[in-house]
This record gives sequence, structure tokens and C-alpha cells, in this order.
Amino acid sequence: MDALLEGLNEAQRAAVTSPSSVLQVLAPPGSGKTKTLTARVAYLVNHERLQPWNIIVCTFTIKAAREMKERITGFVGEGIEKKLILGTFHSVARRFLVRYGQEIGIPRNFGIADTGDSKSIIQRIIEHRQYLVPPDIARGRISGLKARNISAEQFAATQKKTDDHEFANVYFEYEEQLKAQNLLDYDDLLVRCVELLRKQPNCVSTIQAVLIDEYQDTNNVQYELMKHLARASGRITIVGDPDQSIYSFRAAEIKNLLRMRKDYPESSVINLEMNYRSSGCILTAAMAVIEQDESRIDKTLIATHCVGEQPTLRHLATAQVEAWWIVDEIQRTTILTAGLLNYNDYAILIRSAALSLSIERALAKVGIPYRMVGGLRFFDRAEIKLILDYLRIINQPDSNDILIRIINRPSRKVGETTVKALVQEAEEEKINLWTLILRSAQGKRKPRSKITKPAQLGIDTFVNLILTAQKKLHQEDSCDLLGLIGHVIQKTKLESYLKSTYKDDWKERWANVEELVNQATQMATSVANGEEVADDALPIVEGLQQRQDTAADLLSKFLANVTLSSAIEQPNGEEGNQVTISTIHAAKGLEWPVVFIPAVYMGSIPHSRAEDHDEERRLLYVGITRAKGLLYLSCPVKLASSEETVLSKFVNDPRIEKFFSRCGPTIGWLAVRDLAQILRRPCPLVTEVQTARGLLERPEDDKYPFTRDEIDGEESFSFHGSYNVTEPFPKRPKFHHSIS
Ligand code: ATP
Ligand code: MG
Repeated sequence: MDALLEGLNEAQRAAVTSPSSVLQVLAPPGSGKTKTLTARVAYLVNHERLQPWNIIVCTFTIKAAREMKERITGFVGEGIEKKLILGTFHSVARRFLVRYGQEIGIPRNFGIADTGDSKSIIQRIIEHRQYLVPPDIARGRISGLKARNISAEQFAATQKKTDDHEFANVYFEYEEQLKAQNLLDYDDLLVRCVELLRKQPNCVSTIQAVLIDEYQDTNNVQYELMKHLARASGRITIVGDPDQSIYSFRAAEIKNLLRMRKDYPESSVINLEMNYRSSGCILTAAMAVIEQDESRIDKTLIATHCVGEQPTLRHLATAQVEAWWIVDEIQRTTILTAGLLNYNDYAILIRSAALSLSIERALAKVGIPYRMVGGLRFFDRAEIKLILDYLRIINQPDSNDILIRIINRPSRKVGETTVKALVQEAEEEKINLWTLILRSAQGKRKPRSKITKPAQLGIDTFVNLILTAQKKLHQEDSCDLLGLIGHVIQKTKLESYLKSTYKDDWKERWANVEELVNQATQMATSVANGEEVADDALPIVEGLQQRQDTAADLLSKFLANVTLSSAIEQPNGEEGNQVTISTIHAAKGLEWPVVFIPAVYMGSIPHSRAEDHDEERRLLYVGITRAKGLLYLSCPVKLASSEETVLSKFVNDPRIEKFFSRCGPTIGWLAVRDLAQILRRPCPLVTEVQTARGLLERPEDDKYPFTRDEIDGEESFSFHGSYNVTEPFPKRPKFHHSIS
């Protein structure tokens, strides 16, 4: 049989080779939906001889996109990944807008406003209009409307309350500002792409198949986009799982499943039932959690792996103790499994980014490397954002907001009053700030406001910095990305700026700057080697205006990659041997051998601000089903405010708790063997496992609140009593797994 189909079960094979033009694959976590989707792409290329640049594949995260590319390359061979139009909805939309945007009046090299940019624009509008709503809320509401394709005018026309009219004005003004600054926000990328495809259906005339992963989380605009993308071919494959729908706050509409069946009556449905990811015990626990949702449709899920170790549900004294416990479990299990597990096999999945601090500190203290996903993203760090802001202005100086952020950073004696005066002047003359300062720097106009000499000097230096960089960019026939970044770092005297501004951690920040340089190097090298930079392939369509790539496009592309990837995750280079800390949201579709979910208490999950508790339950379900072999849920008894917690209602039920053990798993020889089987890895020898056990120093019972229990001849550590926690951060309990 074809190697492509060999590793698939019957239902998966049916899905991969299905002749239906519209296919829905609906199945629970770990049943191989993503695998099936990937194999179908390969099948279309290998068997149906579709050209890869005529296939669009939408995934939810950049990490998922990367994994998918790897899998497809495995089936089809090297090079395919650069030809497919594969990426998140946003990056696919951006590609069409870059290529054909001028058809609907989107100027070339438009910038992308990230969430922070949008917020600061909205904040200024709100302050100006004295509208009493927090910018975050207004931004969320605007985004929600855009996701449903409702413009400010349309919204205003349907509202009666004055308050709503005021909000409509904010929305309207926000749109104006974006336009004036030549920016598109995340929602615009989708909305404008739909507009483009509606007006110019030719753009997709060559597209022969559209495939979408994580379909349950597509919103209305994405649905529209899907329909337009598939207009020529009428061929759509979607895979998804209604039980994992966790993005309704982003206006994802589960209704889209039904809508699709209505819009495409010819669609066929395939269900997958075998789970290839998790141990039997983890699946049982996961099912117990999700089955509390009475409105859901019951589904079959059959484990293919052995029963494995029971998941753990543990109470710990405080969040810090919880963090130490996690670190200890990581160390204990890496030792006891004798080389079977590495740090990159562990994920700590948190409900909200704010919970990560104590865990990060505990990991850092013992020197376990970790990476953050979906927390404070690499590209959101102040020093990185600063450089990127400079690059964005060099690329496209129309954005007042970005310009205001950097004109006096590092200080050039251009104070707030001066900036305010300049902004007002620019507004009165109906030009943007850049044009204004450029003209005065070139002596073409005299500023009306009183500007001190040093301030004028500062402005001139700034203008000069940008101009020389722009010259570099437009003169050369290939963009020297590194040279540009070097220019910014040098001219802003970034290193000494960081030293004087961040006395405590400037070294770490400088290391981040070096990492940015690394990433730019990687990108520049792949371009020099003639490789396509991610997110660029699009078929050429005759008869449409298309932009030729210029040197400056590399910069735009770099910035777009950065901005789009920071939407929910950090794309940061290679993954080393590091523990992953991620929000549960950003972990969707991924899997790890060992998963910790801390802070499982009321207020955290379900979150205190969450209205839809079913969705919060699904979120916990998504978290639990990321685990292959070992799963740990934990809950601190007391919070920092010394308030006592209540265990999350999603597990606080004897019918569910019975599937969890109170103490950590007993990683004995049998457990290691099972784990190896689940992970499909070679199993360490019995002697290795025993040696590893011998290496574990026994905790001193009276000093450390873990006592040793003997359960069926297996060792386990269970928690007795409580810590005497000394604030602010307790010293590491005496429990060393030293290797002597
Ligand atoms: P999720 O809903 O979490 O996104 P999924 O349904 O997309 O899950 P996959 O990620 O595709 O599931 O697959 C889960 C795991 O099972 C992967 O490690 C995959 O390689 C493996 N797998 C899938 N199908 C098979 C199969 N037929 N034989 C062996 N392993 C499989
Ligand atoms: Mg998947």
C-alpha cells in the first residue's frame, strides 16, 4: 500500500482519499484530525496532481503551521512546504492583500497594527472624546463587530441608545485613524481580504482546494473568507471538534458547522474514534470532565494505548509551593525514567499568563530551561518593541502612534509638550506627523509652535536617523535587514540606553536584542539562498495587477511575520531542550508527554470574568487532552491574599475525582515501560531505571512535607501537613535529587 496511507486507520484513510468535494472530519482530541488533514494535502499533491501553490491550508497557530509543514514534507519531500499556501488565516489573508491589495485601494507596504497599537489608538480617541469606557473593552467590542463584518456605519444605523452612538463614533474614528496611518489591524486583514475576494474573485481562480484545521474556532469573517477562497474549486476539507471550541471571546461561532452543512448540502461527514495520543487513564479523566456538559453530543473515543499512570490531582499550600512541587516532579520524573524524558517533554499549561511568575522563578532557580508561549511574548518586550517600532517607521512613517512612541526614546529632549504641539499642528494642517517634522527638518516650513533649540535638534537627529535608513533601504537592490537593525542599534546607542534605563536586567534585555539579530540573520540567509521567506507563495493570476517584490518588501515581510506571530504565540526560533510554559489557549492542537495544569480553582478555571462556564470546561478539557503519558492538576490551598481557594467545580465532584490520584505517580519500572510504549520510544533497561531510583536522595521526613509511602512495593511521595511559607518566596525545600 501507499506509504502515505499506511500509517492511517480505516476511517482516516477514507477521509484522506474521500472524493467528496466538501468534507467535514469531526472527531475528539488525539484522534488524528491534523494528521489526516496533512495526509490529505499530500494525497492531493501526490495522487490528484494538484499543484501545491493552488492549495490553501489554514491552521490556528504558527507552531501548528510549522508542524504541519514538517509532516507534509515527510510525505511529499523537501521543498513542498515553501510552495503551499499554508499559514494562519491572518497570514494567508495578508498574502492576498500584499499581492492584490491595490485592487481595493490598500497602499503598498501597509503596516499591521498589533493589539497594543490598536489599544493605544483607541485610548487616545477615548481620552479625546471623554468617553467613559476602558480602552480594552472598547477594543474588544470593536474587534467583535469586525469579526462579524459589521462596520461602524452599519452598527450606528441599528442603535438607538446615545451611549451606543458614542461608541460608534469611537469605532468610526478608530477606523479613520488606522487609514490615515496606513495600518490594518488583525481583524482588518480578514475583513479586507474578504472584500478583495468579493470584488476580485479572479484572485482565487487558480485555487483548487482549501483545507482548514481547528474549524470549531473559526468566526464569521473567517467563514466568509473560507467560502471565497474556495469559490473557484468548491473543494473544502475541514477538521474540528466542537468539544474543543474555546474562542467564543473572539467571536468564533460554533454555528458555522451547521451553516456549512446548509451552504454546502453535498458535504459529507466522517467521524474518527480512535485516540492515539493519551494513556487510557488520562482519556477516562478527560471524558469524565467533558461529559458534565449536558448539551453536548455524546461521542465514542477508544484508547489505543495502555491504561498508564493515573493522573494526579493535588492540593498544595500556596502557589509557590505548587511551583516547587511542579519543579520537583519534573526533576523526579526525569531521573526516575532514566533518560526516557527530556525537558522538552514537559508542558505547564496555565489559564492566564499572570499565573506563570512563581513557576518561572522556581524553574529559573534550579536552572531548568523553559520557554514561554503566549505570555509576555518575545516581540512584546520593551527593548524588542523599540527596535521594531523604528523598523516600522523606516518601512512606513505614516503612523503617528508609533512615531510618538519613539521620537523621544532614547531621550532627545523632545518633551511631551513639544510632541503634543506638533501633533496638533499636524492635525490642523491635515498631514501626518512625519511629513510635518520632515518638512521642518528640511527647512521647508517653520513650526508655528514654540520649540526649544535642543528639542528641534533632537527632532532633526531623529529625522536624520530615519532618512538615512530609508535611503539604505531603497537604494540597494536587496534589503540588508541586518544592516538596518545595526543602524538602529547604533544610532540610538541602544546598549547604553538599556544600561542606564534598566539597571537590574539590562544584560538580559541586551541578550534579547541579540536574539532579534539572530532571527533577522536566519531570515536574511534563507533569502540569500534563494529560499522563499515564509508566507509568500501565491499563484500568479493573469490579468490582475500584481506587485513586484522589491528590496523593501523583505522588511515588510519581516515585520509582518513578527506582528502576526505575536498575536497568540512566540515564534522564537528553534526549540531547545526546554520546558514549555503556555496558556491553555495557545496549546490547542499540540501534545506533550507530561502536562501540568496548575491553579485549578474557582476564579482561575472557570475564570472569574468568564460568563460561559461550558466554554471554560472545554478549555480544561483541551488542556487535559494535551497530555500523552502523565498528567498533573494542582490547586493551591491559599492565595497570596491568604484567601482560601475552592477546587474548580469541573473536578470537584466524587464522580470525577475518583479518576485522579492524590499523590504523584509512582514511576516504577512498569510505569516507565508503559510510558515508553505510549511515546513510541525505546524503553530504558530495568537496570537503568533501578540505578536512577537509587540516585534519588531520600527526603528528610521532618524537614520536607513529603513523606515516603510504600504502595505495592513502589515508592511514592505524598503530601502531609502544610508548608510554613516565608514570604515573598520560600527557599527551595530540602529535597535534592543529586546525582552523586
Ligand atoms: P487535537 O484535537 O488535539 O488537535 P488531533 O485529532 O488533531 O488532535 P493529531 O494531533 O493529528 O490529533 O494526532 C494525535 C497523535 O496521534 C499524533 O501524535 C499522531 O501522530 C498520532 N496518530 C494519529 N493517527 C494515528 C494512527 N493512525 N496511527 C498512529 N498514530 C496516530
Ligand atoms: Mg489537531
